[in-house]
Amino acid sequence: MSGNLFIVAAPSGAGKTSLVNALVSTQPQVRLSVSHTTRPARAGEIDGQDYHFVDMATFGQMRDAGEFMESANVFDNFYGTSASAVQAQLLQGFDVILEIDWQGAQQVRNNFADSHSVFILPPSKATLEQRLRHRGQDDEATISRRMRDAEREISHYVEFDYLIVNDDFDTALHSLTAIVVAARHQQRHQVNQYQSLLAELLA
Ligand code: 5GP
Repeated sequence: MSGNLFIVAAPSGAGKTSLVNALVSTQPQVRLSVSHTTRPARAGEIDGQDYHFVDMATFGQMRDAGEFMESANVFDNFYGTSASAVQAQLLQGFDVILEIDWQGAQQVRNNFADSHSVFILPPSKATLEQRLRHRGQDDEATISRRMRDAEREISHYVEFDYLIVNDDFDTALHSLTAIVVAARHQQRHQVNQYQSLLAELLA
């Protein structure tokens, strides 16, 4: 039995991480992929839980050895998704969420035709800016850069299967959950789970 592969992307400030964390905590069948990154850990981040923090040499070796199912340079740091870790979870029947950027999403889509991709949007430009300002001590130049980066990320919305506007958190979470649950009810998954029921009903 194999689970579904989901890509969730968003500009920073759209609330993607909170939504995905809430999804994982309410859906035991869903696992979040832990990426490798060359970015230094932020305060409070735990190695192996938030990211696998690695140096550039290690990242390069892994990439050259073909260990990543996708990798990208995002905001001057490298990020990659371990192919073997994701495959292992899918094979165990878990749905796996990749929280990655649009470049990684393109690579995954090219290699996994069955993946489902979701793009999270902020409800307005003003809200996005407000959320970016709220999160820390970024100076004006950094905020402007983040807004430009956000615009670039958002311009790729058209490549995604689903769009969710994160205005009210619970409504957005409900939509994200609905997408995951609907995919799980695809006939090819249900057939696996209900083989004996179907055999009995058709006997
Ligand atoms: P942050 O460093 O703020 O956690 O993430 C920065 C950006 O990198 C976000 O857009 C995030 O989705 C993206 N990202 C995180 N992990 C990966 C990954 O494994 N692959 C790709 N392509 N992007 C990633």
